[in-house]
Amino acid sequence: MHRLYFAAALIFGGVACGSDTAPSDGTGPRSDVDRAAAMVDVGAPLPSRAEAVALADAVAIQAEKEASLDEQARLFALAARLRERIYRFEASDADAREALELFARAARAGRGKEVGCEAELGRARLAGEIGKSAATTYRELYLAKRRLGSLREAAHESPCLSSLGRALARGTAFAPTGAELAALERDGDRAEASAPPLSSSADVASTSASTSATAPPAPSDDVVILPTDLAPAKHPVKVTKIDKYAEATGGRVVIQLTGATTFQVGALAPDGGKDARIYLDIDRASVKGIARETEVGGAIKRIRTAPRAGGGSRIVLDLSSEMHRRVFYLPEPFRIVVDVSSRQAVAAPASGVRTVKRVVIDPGHGGDDAGAVGPTGLKEKDVTLDIAHRVAPLLAHELGVETLVTRDSDVFVPLDERAARANAFHADLFVSIHCNASENGEARGIEVFVLDELKDTSRAAARVAMVENGLVGPKALDPAALDAQMAGIVSRLRTGETAASSRKLGELVSRATLASLSEKYPNTADHGLKSAGFYVLAGAEMPAVLFETSFISNPDDEARLAKADYRQKLADGVVNAVRAYRDGK
Ligand SMILES: [Zn+2]
Repeated sequence: MHRLYFAAALIFGGVACGSDTAPSDGTGPRSDVDRAAAMVDVGAPLPSRAEAVALADAVAIQAEKEASLDEQARLFALAARLRERIYRFEASDADAREALELFARAARAGRGKEVGCEAELGRARLAGEIGKSAATTYRELYLAKRRLGSLREAAHESPCLSSLGRALARGTAFAPTGAELAALERDGDRAEASAPPLSSSADVASTSASTSATAPPAPSDDVVILPTDLAPAKHPVKVTKIDKYAEATGGRVVIQLTGATTFQVGALAPDGGKDARIYLDIDRASVKGIARETEVGGAIKRIRTAPRAGGGSRIVLDLSSEMHRRVFYLPEPFRIVVDVSSRQAVAAPASGVRTVKRVVIDPGHGGDDAGAVGPTGLKEKDVTLDIAHRVAPLLAHELGVETLVTRDSDVFVPLDERAARANAFHADLFVSIHCNASENGEARGIEVFVLDELKDTSRAAARVAMVENGLVGPKALDPAALDAQMAGIVSRLRTGETAASSRKLGELVSRATLASLSEKYPNTADHGLKSAGFYVLAGAEMPAVLFETSFISNPDDEARLAKADYRQKLADGVVNAVRAYRDGK
């Protein structure tokens, strides 16, 4: 490729220099640049192929001679764009490959600069176009992003890096999975350490061949994660805390940050005595003040942190073995959540007999977090704990189901940890138990929520979510904003089947509870099934519901919630709902 390129330049170089449009003041080479620049615009007339190719080559030769890297990058990019335009006219792959080569040279010369990024972007898009494959585009964009490490520090002021990020986010449906993903991540590691590659026709051919030979890749979102629905923080951000929870079968790590930022995820198989590991490269984030190494135990052996040479930080999770993983973020405060599990989550069928062997019952709040408090001082945390501890033994005795209660006493358990426990327990269902509250104190009755696509965006539903998420107060989010943010996360978290199963479970909890209460409490109001953004449910791999048993803010409901009989009837409702769910009702 290289030799051919120079041969062509030699043959046509003289033609371009001697062309009659060149001014006679000795600035001939500059005029080639001007002519080329005029031709790259869409709609500008192109001369014959031979003449256009000659011009592109002349510009490339001039780039070679340039002492300034900036100018070199600009000229290589110009030659590349002209070659690309010739390709569009003539559809000859030779022109496209030449353009790829020129883009790669521009990227090298312009490394760390906007012009280099633009060349990377142009190259990635063209490579995908030649390969006639969105998966190739994704791969090339991904590798480009990894190579552009030094630009990341200034991501918020690089329009090119932003559009690269947006292009990647749009292409996530074409991200590879499994072994292909691992191979891409390894290539990404190499790409990051090296300059942009000089492409060859063999490269492009093998890439397109490999993508067309395999089945279309399944959607995956854990390669590069860009919170497109959140504005990245204006200034560099800090990792303030790393929470971890692990058992032998799985675990969760939550990285708390002072603001939103982009991050990338990769995984490495065990090799040379090193453990299997997951790493996160968090752009523009500092880990100052965070322990370099923390022993965890169980599925996650340890967590290591380090600043990265090009800016940002790397956080590594050393694992006891290769694990399935899922990575997502939660807004406000911005957190990156890494879930690992020895078992791949399998969606339960939406109808028919369902396997229910393990159920997690989650009593809301606890410890310093009292939850809502009734007019006479009844605390939500005490009511939920009591109901949960009525549900658990019944599930075991009546249904033979193994149960896990997320807290046994009046202790504080972080929201992040509750779903993590359920995932590590490989639970088939997750039921979070709460008491509702309203500002006017009039509202009564039961209400069940699922974490879903948030079709119900009523202010009331959003408010319940804010209360349960601990967001009310001066810093509370606007409900619409909260819903929009959670919708973005949820769409990436819940498979259609799990969402449908959650709604089914929610309907059954609502129906079974009303039935259980009907004889003694016939006037119970039913607020039905709603959806809203509950952090406690985020990342739960199984069908999950949040049950607002009654309004503790209403004096009559509070009086009921204080009674053992009423709590027992609520518990019976939950048990009957799990039974009905298992039986395929
Ligand atoms: Zn609550």
